[in-house]
Amino acid sequence: MAADCLFCKVAAGAIPAEIVKQGEGWVAFRDINPQAPTHILVIPREHIATLNDVPDEKAELLGRLFLAAKQIAADEGIAESGYRTVFNCNAGAGQSVFHVHIHLLGGRAMGWPPG
Ligand code: AMP
Ligand code: ZN
Repeated sequence: MAADCLFCKVAAGAIPAEIVKQGEGWVAFRDINPQAPTHILVIPREHIATLNDVPDEKAELLGRLFLAAKQIAADEGIAESGYRTVFNCNAGAGQSVFHVHIHLLGGRAMGWPPG
């Protein structure tokens, strides 16, 4: 756990969050500032700052994060209507919390390209 990391604190229960689901090595919770009717963040329990920092050995962990997003999309009832999974990597892409997370967004129509 990185002492100054917001999402490490969420994963440890030190900061309250609306936890949606948890699994092996990951936690999912609702985004505090939702950008869609469903906006959930899926994070690894271990601290990894950005997607750039994910080593090849963590391929299985990345897979688990995406499979969690898939399952949660089904639970939320947005699997058929459609949803988006987003990794913002570094500030230029809009990353503001430097602990990797998948945004799971759905429940409304999505534009393309993203802003
Ligand atoms: P990003 O900008 O891609 O790093 O995404 C960070 C996300 O974390 C934003 O969508 C924020 O709204 C969300 N966020 C920040 N603090 C919290 C918190 N305490 N609980 C839940 N979501 C948060
Ligand atoms: Zn962290």
